[in-house]
Amino acid sequence: METIAIIGGGFCGTMAAVNLARLASRPIRIVLINCARPVARGVAYGTSRPEHLLNVAARNMSAVPDHADHFVDWLRTRVDYSDIPDPQLREMFVPRRVYGDYLRSLLFNYLSPIDRHCPAQIELIEDEAIDIEPSPDGPVTVLLKSGEPIVANRVLLATGNQNPTPFLTNGKPLSHPAYFADPWQDWHSHLPVENANIIVLGTGLTMVDVFLTLTNLNWRGKLIAVSRNGKLPQSHFRGIDYPDFLPAEPEKLGLKKLVKLLEHHCAQLRRLGANPGIVVDRLRPHTQRIWQNFTAQEKREFLTKYATRWNVVRHRVAQPVHQLLTEAITDGNVQIVRGSIEQIAPDAGRLRVTIHENSGKTSHLEGALVINCTGPCAGLSETDIPLFKNLLKRGLIHTDELDMGIDVAPNFAVQDVSGNKSDVMFGIGPLMKGSLWETTAVPELRGQALRAAEILVDAAGVSAEQDYRMSVEQEHVLEYCI
Ligand SMILES: Cc1cc2nc3c(=O)[nH]c(=O)nc-3n(C[C@H](O)[C@H](O)[C@H](O)COP(=O)(O)OP(=O)(O)OC[C@H]3O[C@@H](n4cnc5c(N)ncnc54)[C@H](O)[C@@H]3O)c2cc1C
Repeated sequence: METIAIIGGGFCGTMAAVNLARLASRPIRIVLINCARPVARGVAYGTSRPEHLLNVAARNMSAVPDHADHFVDWLRTRVDYSDIPDPQLREMFVPRRVYGDYLRSLLFNYLSPIDRHCPAQIELIEDEAIDIEPSPDGPVTVLLKSGEPIVANRVLLATGNQNPTPFLTNGKPLSHPAYFADPWQDWHSHLPVENANIIVLGTGLTMVDVFLTLTNLNWRGKLIAVSRNGKLPQSHFRGIDYPDFLPAEPEKLGLKKLVKLLEHHCAQLRRLGANPGIVVDRLRPHTQRIWQNFTAQEKREFLTKYATRWNVVRHRVAQPVHQLLTEAITDGNVQIVRGSIEQIAPDAGRLRVTIHENSGKTSHLEGALVINCTGPCAGLSETDIPLFKNLLKRGLIHTDELDMGIDVAPNFAVQDVSGNKSDVMFGIGPLMKGSLWETTAVPELRGQALRAAEILVDAAGVSAEQDYRMSVEQEHVLEYCI
């Protein structure tokens, strides 16, 4: 019997495993290896806080591309949601922990199937994969930190994002009881007195999570959020009827012409009193192709000049959340500082944060808690993750041209240091950021998880005659209806 090992049990790994089990017509061993974050839930849906909401409406959160309403239908099975009228339920931004329950329940079906005839069962191993030993002609061996090695015919890398870049003091990662390098740690059990400040490094979606938790806990001190651009995520909004403005093949425009076109339409939308974010939504079905057609120089230019603006408009929060944050800023309970952090130094039980503000002035803030919400570390070549260090050393993977992730071919095959496509190792999810740019949210990732499973069952020779393959049109509609 073939063994498929999946490294990483967040959304991508879990849904790849579930789809493999759905697609397999004959026995196959699926081993899901996960550590550090709760299985199925991963980083995003591992929060236990009720105030942390999805930032995509329920209608577009199905985990399976071939059942567009699967998540909404699953919500209906829960008493909390069963009586909510359909139009309202579909537009809800439900707590992320509920979405984590959804993913967990999908996995549970195959971890402990009640149908004894199910050909594929998923085996969960809670351990860290630290290396993969190739063999010249056949299965590879996945080495684990503490358990027995796993011999596998194929391996899917679904390890998600790296942790945030550590803040260094004197060349070492900052360590202090008032400093939380990981925003998903339990910092809320250490809330300071209310005349103290909490300083958040970053002003994006994770900062918004911190703000919501403080609000929910009724903490009345001041939150100061610092980032170079000081930009907050935008709110979801209702679109307007706006004519199609993209040419038939927008990927052929190149960066310069594309920016000119988008800026023209943003200005036009502003004149109409509409949200220019519509432009980003219209581009979404084409984003991956546009990115793939950019030259390396264009990609670099996009990252330095436009990526911040793109991210702010692209990753939005629910409107009531945005309103709450705006009110807190107006009331002075939240302060946004534009600048870069120069130093974080211990000051008795607290931390003194030195900021070089964009205005040119240097300021010092005292934080009773400092939480790093700067987002995942971007570079892979300098990674300290054992698995990737070892795979890079072996030449089994190599970083994409921007060092944002690994080089992966369109069929998800990992490419080695010489550019050869692997028959054994595959990769999906945020690891493909450098190759695709847009590979972050469920609407893209669910398609990847299904397609990767199809490729793996085909390779194992256990695909059913009838499977769940989507037509191109279905796929298109599902991936991009935000
Ligand atoms: C806070 C947050 C909120 C989000 N909200 C939304 C939303 O509302 N809607 C939406 O569409 N998208 C959202 N996203 C984006 C998206 O859904 C997630 O990023 C997605 O869940 C990524 O899944 P993943 O499996 O690739 O990674 P992860 O969820 O990070 O899972 C990877 C798992 O692999 C484990 N792992 C890594 N390396 C190893 C190893 N060597 N051995 C064993 N295990 C390993 C990790 O510990 C982790 O458990 C959100 C993301 C975040 C961070």
